[in-house]
Amino acid sequence: MLQNIDLLIMIYLQDYAAFVRNNKLEDFVSIELRNIHSFNIPLMQFFTHLTEDELRATLRKSLLKLLEAIENGTAITQVKASLENWKNNGITGVPREAISLRDITLIYSAQKLSLQAFIPDFTTEVSIAANLINEIELYYKQVQELTLQMLEAIQQEEYEKRLESDEKYKDLFDNANDLIQLTSPDGEILYVNKAWTETTGYNTEELKGRSILDFLKESERKYYKDYRERIIAGEKIKDNLKTVYITKSGKEINVEGYLSCKYKDGKPQYTMGILRNVTDKISQEKKINFYINQLAEREAYLSHVIESAPDAVIVIDSENTIQLWNPKAEEIFGWKEEEVKGMQLSEIIFPASFREKHYNEMKRYLATQKSSIINKTIELTAIHKNRNEFYISLTVSHAVQEGKDIFISFIRDITQQKKIALELENQRKQLEKSNQELEQFAWLTSHDLKEPLRKILTFSDALIRKHNDNDSETSLNYLKKIHRSANRMNELIEAVLLYSNVATDTDLFSDVNLNEVVRDVLEDLELLITSKNAVIEIDPLPVVHAIPIQMRQLFQNLISNAIKYSKPDDAPHVHINCTDIGEHFKITVKDNGIGFQNVYAEKIFQVFQRLLTNKIYEGTGIGLALCKKILEAHNGTIHAESEEGVGSNFIVHLPKRHEFAATAQSA
Ligand code: ADP
Repeated sequence: MLQNIDLLIMIYLQDYAAFVRNNKLEDFVSIELRNIHSFNIPLMQFFTHLTEDELRATLRKSLLKLLEAIENGTAITQVKASLENWKNNGITGVPREAISLRDITLIYSAQKLSLQAFIPDFTTEVSIAANLINEIELYYKQVQELTLQMLEAIQQEEYEKRLESDEKYKDLFDNANDLIQLTSPDGEILYVNKAWTETTGYNTEELKGRSILDFLKESERKYYKDYRERIIAGEKIKDNLKTVYITKSGKEINVEGYLSCKYKDGKPQYTMGILRNVTDKISQEKKINFYINQLAEREAYLSHVIESAPDAVIVIDSENTIQLWNPKAEEIFGWKEEEVKGMQLSEIIFPASFREKHYNEMKRYLATQKSSIINKTIELTAIHKNRNEFYISLTVSHAVQEGKDIFISFIRDITQQKKIALELENQRKQLEKSNQELEQFAWLTSHDLKEPLRKILTFSDALIRKHNDNDSETSLNYLKKIHRSANRMNELIEAVLLYSNVATDTDLFSDVNLNEVVRDVLEDLELLITSKNAVIEIDPLPVVHAIPIQMRQLFQNLISNAIKYSKPDDAPHVHINCTDIGEHFKITVKDNGIGFQNVYAEKIFQVFQRLLTNKIYEGTGIGLALCKKILEAHNGTIHAESEEGVGSNFIVHLPKRHEFAATAQSA
């Protein structure tokens, strides 16, 4: 044990110290200075601010102190004291943690070397010199040992302190709500707190030896790595770290916080991250942003719609004061928005007769939610700025905006529409009138034609009967032709009279059982049916609200045509069917006859339109026109589908209730 070396009598060293102090002090300082420089002691970096003279002065002071201490036998005590001082306070201007064993060893080695430099000047005696070297060696060995002890003590102390603070921090960290993580400079996880493991679902075992990057969302890794490297490089980053972790169950966790780096001897030791789970906040923010954007979009869209609406859009408050007046309103009424805003709407655009009603209806709606104009479209006249009256359609709806009742009017200028409708109505009336006149005329002429025709028939008939052998064959033939033509003319006149006589009076309507109608028709056609071997198949038919005689004419024409227009070699097969299709009955009369090309499907319903002129299929060309007219009187329809050589199908739509059909058509 060397602790008590001060007690040993360092005879030679004491004398030698006195010698150096008295004779070689300046040289001692110089050599020491040189050695210090050449030893490249890291600690010296803290003294670079001193000038050479200042450094010498400092050294001189400390070497003098050393020599005096050796002389009076207190050197080791003083080393102990100065080491103690270093341990507790460091060297003036040098932080304690900056002093390393290497520093102290180098300093003492330099000192030892410098001190030995004057031995040859002190003695030429080898034994004295050898003893002196021994004593110097002994001294520095002890200094070395004390240094070591001191550093060990420091380390121990620091270790204990760290332990204590680690525990303290661990507690602190584990109670923290934030995610705390310590990672080595290359990213290996060293420590994570409880909040971290609880949030991510990993336990500490699973994190051992893993890189922090493994727990980040892949797309976030580069950003995180860069951020971390910048922190390690000492950069002060203003923006918080914002990134995304993936939990063990694969959920994304948004975190926000900061990283810091701990250095030792200028080298990064570890990085510490304190992060907050902001997932809820972000999703909340996202939602809010989403709604804000949607609202903004909607508002923008709404104002765009109002700006570019094809209708005038006018908003008034419950006191009838104009709040909004869009460009179309300016166009329709001639008033600019700034001229009318804040004014009474009814005073501006409505004729005096409507003003009170408008105001009262608004009030009534607010009180009772009932009104004859709110939420309905009405047509009325309005007043332009130039005092002209014109037709508008007006739809008023009610809304509440910022707690206040408002009424929104959508207005369309329908002057043009009204004009066209009026013109159309006039034309329709005129057409109806001329049709009536024509029918009357046709009826009258046909009726008047009947009398001379009857005479032609009677007299030609008498002449044929009175015919004798003296008369020429030719004149007899002429007479017969006159008689046939007169007969045909009679048929045509009868048909025209029938056509002109189709009545539409509502009081002629009654319930008609179509089964009975068809049965009567078939009775009338019995001869034709038998002569042609026709098969008539009839499905059950309904009772309809119709004019009975017209129903009979309808089926008479359709069935007789179906038998008449049969193929010469095939017996006619006619099928009558009925389907209920809601508001109508769909009745079909289908045959297997000669059919016709579909292009004629509409033409055959016109008066006197016949597709065949040969004698086999005789007719007047009025039957289907009559059917069409009958269905018009019943607000129904008729059309045909056919294929030449295959057969025809006549399709009738008959409303179940005549009143319904009449309303529907007029609407
Ligand atoms: P017509 O007195 O000539 O039968 P219609 O008005 O009843 O007059 O019929 C017009 C034309 O429609 C007929 O001349 C005929 O060419 C065609 N037609 C009517 N019904 C049928 C049918 N069931 N099959 C084929 N053609 C038909």
